[in-house]
Formats: sequence, structure tokens, C-alpha cells
Amino acid sequence: MSDTQKNDLLEKVTALAKRRGIVYPNSEIYGGIGGFYDYGPVGVEMKNNLKRYWWKEMVDKREDVVGIDGAIITHPKVWEASGHIQNFTDEVIECKKCHQRFRTEEIADGQKCPNCGSQEFTEPRSYNILFETEVGVLENAKTKAYLRGEACQTIYLDFKNVVDSTRMQIPFGIAQIGKAFRNEITPGRLTFRSREFEQWDMQFFVHPNDMEKWFEYWKEKRMDFYKSLYRKQENLRFKQHPKDKLVFYAKDAYDIEYKTPWGWAENEGIHWRGDYDLTQHSKFSGKDLSYTDPRNGEKYIPWIVETSGGVDRTLLMLLLDAYEEEDLGEGKSRTVLKVHPDIAGYKVAIFPLVSNKEEIVNKARSIFELLSENIKVVWDDRGNIGKRYRYQDEIGTPYCITVDYETLENDTVTVRDRDTMEQERVKIVDLDEYLS
Ligand code: ATP
Repeated sequence: MSDTQKNDLLEKVTALAKRRGIVYPNSEIYGGIGGFYDYGPVGVEMKNNLKRYWWKEMVDKREDVVGIDGAIITHPKVWEASGHIQNFTDEVIECKKCHQRFRTEEIADGQKCPNCGSQEFTEPRSYNILFETEVGVLENAKTKAYLRGEACQTIYLDFKNVVDSTRMQIPFGIAQIGKAFRNEITPGRLTFRSREFEQWDMQFFVHPNDMEKWFEYWKEKRMDFYKSLYRKQENLRFKQHPKDKLVFYAKDAYDIEYKTPWGWAENEGIHWRGDYDLTQHSKFSGKDLSYTDPRNGEKYIPWIVETSGGVDRTLLMLLLDAYEEEDLGEGKSRTVLKVHPDIAGYKVAIFPLVSNKEEIVNKARSIFELLSENIKVVWDDRGNIGKRYRYQDEIGTPYCITVDYETLENDTVTVRDRDTMEQERVKIVDLDEYLS
């Protein structure tokens, strides 16, 4: 792909996402609101599939990880203990001419304002990105609260509950997929940096002596996860945080980065959190959050390896990874999303060749009913078959099934493959096996 092609890849993906019901700007009829997005009929299926894919790998397939689903609003003291009220800040500079604000790191020394070209900026100022709200009904008795700035805090809050209510023993992990909110200074690049987004987090609790081993383990495991998801493996890499940029309690941290059209960008963080979080919450809550090993009675504050990634960000990167424009010769081309079949919104599209012949429509409907017992299928009886293929290609549907006159004779259908565009005649009774 040339540089110009790469540069407009995000624009093309954004347009496709809107055109085909994957991602819409929120409140669009009011002009939109920066940093908030809605998922459309195809997008919600893809996002749910993506979350299921993560949950299967991180929870279902493991005996040592359990899930929770925590609330978005917590006791406000949580954010004092975690340091977010003091430190969850970005540094902002403002263009003196057009007053647009930027994160300091976005503007290199001597760079002009990307909005108006001026070179004059204010001094950097700190700006807290936690969203505030109020809890309670009486005007003078309302309590200030915060929408969680990171989902993982709920896991620390529930650590003791999980130990007391399950059979888990250290080492074990708690996983959660949930919303987080950040009043980002410069939201943008579709859902890459939004103000409301979802995170997939796993906090793995270990004995301090085993920390090194588990940190390495999860680093590799999480990279394998992303490798299984993306097509272009060369667009994935680790980036180690420089030692002088680590928070004081961290011995090490890595980002898993994906190479986007605008450069390498964080997809997930693997963090060495030590005993910091549980110690802080013990201190601020006055509750003992240490763990007693039932096997030898040893009591200690567990150390934590964190894996924390963004669901929306991953979905966006998947769209970038999957988008292809193919030249089909004779002046024809197609746009296709070669997205992992497990993530595709629909696994199969069912086409009755014509919509006005009852036997064909009924046959197609019976296949729809049969397949939708186990997989997500979609119906399309509009326009010619070529157009229907193009539409399904654009949303990444791996297979299209056409029911035609021959079906009525011998109970076979045409199955067409998204990636190769090859078509095969398959018996209806063999469809389940063929598709799996
Ligand atoms: P960044 O440096 O890009 O702001 P971060 O280091 O602040 O990210 P973390 O706090 O480690 O991010 O959050 C874990 C994950 O949550 C990130 O790897 C990213 O995938 C996702 N994430 C963080 N902020 C946003 C956002 N504003 N919009 C979408 N996803 C986000």
C-alpha cells in the first residue's frame, strides 16, 4: 500500500463504518459530540463477538481466571486511593490564536498549530480527565462521584469478595469487560481515542516471589491473543516503557502496539502493579486486603500483573487490518473486510435468488431458520446477486448462500467464499459441517 493509500485508510474505514452500520457518530442529528460513538446493527454484533472471543480466551478456557461485572460509579474515595483525583491528568497547551487545546505531547518543539498555523502556545497546564457526577436527590446532600476512569479499580474492590465467595486460590485472575470514561482533551481517529469506551482487563494476583514469571507469561499470552486476531502480524510489536517513565511502583511495563496509518499506537498495556493497588485500598478503606494461603498459612498482600486493553480500539484496529480494495479486472473492483470469521457480524448471508417465487423463498427461509439455531445469519433478497455479494463483502460476511432453481431439484445451494470468491455447490444437509 502506498503512503497516500495508507493516509486515507482511516477515512475510508470511517466512511465504511458509517455506511454499513458498524460505527455511527453519537447524536449526529445534533451535530455530534466529540469522543462519543454508537455501534450500528453490524457493529454491535462485531463488538459482542470480539468481547466473547476475549472472554473465551481469558475466562472460559482457564481454570485460574474468573469474571466480574462491576458498576461504573464507585465510592468517590476509590479515586483518592488510586491517585486518580490527584494524578489522572494530561498536560494541555492552548493555541493563543485559535484557542484549540492539544495534549502537550502532540505538538513537537517548534511545530505550528495544526488548526490555524500559529506558533504561539500557552505554557503546559495539567488537566484532570476524570468525569464528575453527583449522587443523591436532595440539592444540599448530593455527593460528588466519578465515572470510573479505568475499569480495573472495581476488580481491586472485589478482590476480597471473590476470595471469600469462590474456591479460587492464588495464583488466580479476575477479568472484566466494562466501560471507562475519560474527558480526553483531543478525542479523535474514530473510536481510537474516545471519551466513553470499553476496556478488557485482567488482574492476576500472585505471590511476590512468582511475579517475574507471571509477568513474562502474560506478556507472551496477550501478544499471542492479538496475533490470533489480526491478519497482518508484522503490524504488531511490544514497546517497553522506558525505565524513567515508569510509575514508582512498577518494575516493568510493555505496550502491545499496532501499526496504524498514523504510526505505532497502543492497543493494550501489560503492567507490573506490585502490591500498590491493594495496599492503597487497604489504607484508605481501613479493611485488611491481605491474603492468607490456605495451604501454609502465609499472609501477604498479593502482587498484581495487569493486562488492560481497549475493546473499541481493538475493533478499530481490526477494521484497519481487514480493509482491502481489490481490483477484479475489466474495470471492476470490490471493497472487502477480511476480518477474522469469529468477529464478523454475520457468519452467513442467505439469498433467495428471486424474491417472487414462493418455493425458493420458503426454502431459503428454512435454511435461515436451520442455521440461525447455531450461528448469526442475515437475510438479503434485494437486488441482483452481484450487488448482494458486494454488500456482504463490505461488512466481512465470510459466506453467502444462494438458494436457486437447482435447489428445488436436488437440495443443494451455492456457497460463496468471501476471500477467494469461489463458489461451490453444497448439499443442504452438509451445510452445518461445511460452515464449521
Ligand atoms: P493512551 O496512552 O493511548 O492514552 P493509556 O496508556 O492511557 O492509553 P490505559 O490507561 O493503559 O491507556 O488503558 C488501557 C487500554 O484502554 C489502552 O491500551 C487502550 O486500548 C484503551 N484506552 C485508553 N484510553 C482510551 C480512549 N480514550 N479511547 C479508547 N480506548 C482507550
